[in-house]
Amino acid sequence: MADNTTEQTHTESQIFLSTRGGDYGLSFETVVLKGLAADGGLFLPHRIPTANDWQSWKDLSYPDLAFQILSLYIARSEIPAEDLKGIIDRSYSTFRAEEVTPLAHLHDNLYLLELFHGPSYSFKDCALQFLGNLFEYFLVRKNEGKEGKGQLADRPADRHHLAVVGATSGDTGSAAIEGLRGKKDVTVVILHPKGRISPIQEAQMTSCPDANVLNLAVTGTFDDCQDIVKALFNDPETNKKLKLGAVNSINFARILAQIVYYFYSYFSLAKKSSTFKVGDKVRFVVPTGNFGDILAGYFAYRMGLPVDKLVIATNENDILDRFFKTGRYEKKPAHGHEAEGGLKKDGVEAHEDGAKETLSPAMDILVSSNFERLLWFLASEFVATAGMDDEWNNKQAGQEVAAWLKDLKTKGGFGPVYKDVLDNARKSFESERVSDPQTLETIKATYQKIGYVLDPHTSVGVTAALRSINSVGQSVPHISLSTAHPAKFAGAVELALKGEQGFDFAKVLPQEFVELEKKEKRVSTVNNDWQTVRDVVIKQVEKEVGA
Ligand SMILES: *Cc1c(COP(=O)(O)O)cnc(C)c1O
Repeated sequence: MADNTTEQTHTESQIFLSTRGGDYGLSFETVVLKGLAADGGLFLPHRIPTANDWQSWKDLSYPDLAFQILSLYIARSEIPAEDLKGIIDRSYSTFRAEEVTPLAHLHDNLYLLELFHGPSYSFKDCALQFLGNLFEYFLVRKNEGKEGKGQLADRPADRHHLAVVGATSGDTGSAAIEGLRGKKDVTVVILHPKGRISPIQEAQMTSCPDANVLNLAVTGTFDDCQDIVKALFNDPETNKKLKLGAVNSINFARILAQIVYYFYSYFSLAKKSSTFKVGDKVRFVVPTGNFGDILAGYFAYRMGLPVDKLVIATNENDILDRFFKTGRYEKKPAHGHEAEGGLKKDGVEAHEDGAKETLSPAMDILVSSNFERLLWFLASEFVATAGMDDEWNNKQAGQEVAAWLKDLKTKGGFGPVYKDVLDNARKSFESERVSDPQTLETIKATYQKIGYVLDPHTSVGVTAALRSINSVGQSVPHISLSTAHPAKFAGAVELALKGEQGFDFAKVLPQEFVELEKKEKRVSTVNNDWQTVRDVVIKQVEKEVGA
């Protein structure tokens, strides 16, 4: 299926395909509004653009840099320049920091990229403020001149209404709600695993008073929530009734927005450091769950940013670390870490309750959904050695990815992948696995050394960065990504710092969080069953647009 609008007006990096080979030639608008491809795959541009003049971007403000980068992926015929500028300005004007994503110097050649200055205090705001404004822009345009409240998909006559359904392990939910609350023609339903998110995260989501927001607490894990969302996207009945929109990092617009801060922090480093010059290589270290954040780093690297390595930092849910060590991508480790990993014994399907609860819950996942996108690049580079044309390569890569994902679904894993594929992956990536005790130790050591308070996810990254510095030395600067404000994960921070001289949690607690407690909360508990959720979502949309 190809959009017929994209022929002349779009470059190869402005049209999109599915990682499983079922779609190609799609417009950006289609990709943003659909989220997930009909064949179950994820959307990618046909080609990653090379940014030949990236060095000339070094003094741009965050919004101006975002405009340059996003323009490479979004055709002017879809979003005119002035409109794109407006969307970007609205998205980043909500941040508390002037620089949007400031770079802090920790010590030696280690820097911390603070991504938590948006409305919900996690890095997800960087993408979801943008995605919310993008949804609004497309809907306003579709509905121009149309009357009435809105329509369900099976009543196609009038307004286009989007039902955004997302799963969250805590941070996506609050960031999505901040990005979409009160927006016209959008319903937002957020599923979180009941009792498995931090009290602040829960309060942030459930205290939102806007009528277009519904919170569902699912009696299951985050992976269950993610599976329910996927089931809804794949269900013909749901798609007949609703126009679904995705806010999870399966939405390509999120990856796109995140590319910006890799470039921005690189330039910040050049301004801060007396020894680092534009053109020198840097390592990025990224606390990783669904592989969305670090995938944006891979895009930046492929666009031309001088990256020495991207270091994946996982917690004890270490499927990615195991892949990079063994070439096998498996929900459960082959040689049973049962005691340590908390995984169930043979005979029980791994994803029943597979992810271990750790101190960095936003990374408690069994399978990283965006890893499929990296697999597509690895497959396409592998098949390209056959010397055929792009069309053949794309098709072969799609088939390869579809086969891997089928094994993941039916057998719980796949691999080992070919040695050439793994070697190729290791050219750009390294991985580290960080345990809970190590996470606490780094929070404590960093506080003792420089008085800086890390959140537990950021601490997983910093621990990995310290190991990487140990192995490659101080000459390569490390930028470690800070993905959340420490006050969002009070439990872990207090555990690490209790009894430390001079530490007072009240000092890191934003006033906004104190006030959350007093607000009224709205949330419904639902069973871990996708059909139940379907009925609830349909009812909510009907309530808003009229049954
Ligand atoms: C979502 C999240 C992550 C993981 O990001 P991915 O894009 O899923 O890899 C890490 N830290 C925090 C605080 C998060 O909210």
